[in-house]
Amino acid sequence: MTVLLPGSLDEALQAMASHPTALPVAGGTDLLVHWPQRPELHRQTFVDLSAVQELRPLRWTTDELVLGGLTTYWDVIEDGRVREEFPLLVEAARQIGSIQIQARGTWAGNIINGSPAADGVAALMAYDGVVVLDSTRGRSEIPLAEFYSGYKQMRRAPDELVTQIRLPRREYSVQIFEKVGSRRAQAIAKVGVTVTRSASGWRVVAHSVAPFVCRCTALERCLESEASVGSPDDLLPAIREDVSPIDDLRSSAAYRERVMARVLYYGLLEVCPSFH
Ligand SMILES: Cc1cc2nc3c(=O)[nH]c(=O)nc-3n(C[C@H](O)[C@H](O)[C@H](O)COP(=O)(O)OP(=O)(O)OC[C@H]3O[C@@H](n4cnc5c(N)ncnc54)[C@H](O)[C@@H]3O)c2cc1C
Repeated sequence: MTVLLPGSLDEALQAMASHPTALPVAGGTDLLVHWPQRPELHRQTFVDLSAVQELRPLRWTTDELVLGGLTTYWDVIEDGRVREEFPLLVEAARQIGSIQIQARGTWAGNIINGSPAADGVAALMAYDGVVVLDSTRGRSEIPLAEFYSGYKQMRRAPDELVTQIRLPRREYSVQIFEKVGSRRAQAIAKVGVTVTRSASGWRVVAHSVAPFVCRCTALERCLESEASVGSPDDLLPAIREDVSPIDDLRSSAAYRERVMARVLYYGLLEVCPSFH
């Protein structure tokens, strides 16, 4: 195993460019969990990002909250302003693993790990997060809602690092993050639904339902139209348009579809006059 330890962002981008198969390491919480089962990792080159100070800070501009490529869940939980303006980030972060995982795990790592059950990705997507990728070839900025194309398939070249995640600052009238798991802590989601409403419209994000975390645009149109919804089953046609639920070790496709409809219906009953 070779570990490169760049001391600046420039050095990190150079290391990624000159070692095309290198894997960046942030908190290591996803990478190291596979260590015993994946002996090929033991011969891998890693680029340890921990000394790259430029990737650490979370910062505010007039229009945006900008998370760095090394911002952890704990950085977000501790920030009072995030709690006020982006409460679903804090809610998602508090439900990720344990305090130890929250202290080490990063939002960027959650995005690149690409799990369909990624709680952090769901919250970021519901706030219209944009992924900023840098390499020695330049920069690309991709809305998170357009980042994935299949299970662990994403628009990232091997030499690119996530250096920022940008979130537009908006007034929200609805903010809901629901994670259904087998217990309240240390559980990976069986079904997750995140909903926001702002002047830019409704956002509905499903996680641990489809092969990747995704926006549900048919459900968003249904909410926008204020169509009458009298029971969870009234949401099933839109859910079926948006996602083909997965069957896996955590739950069945039928369970995911039914639970997603119920979680959405009861979550929105209080806030949507068209729900009764
Ligand atoms: C016990 C346990 C419980 C967990 N519970 C949850 C949970 O409830 N919900 C949940 O969503 N996740 C959970 N996770 C998964 C994990 O903690 C998160 O996905 C975490 O955010 C990963 O971040 P990291 O910094 O540790 O990533 P790492 O393990 O360092 O890296 C993960 C992947 O991202 C790549 N990467 C990292 N940083 C960058 C970057 N800046 N640019 C490009 N690529 C990068 C790495 O090469 C690797 O492919 C759990 C993990 C464990 C071990």
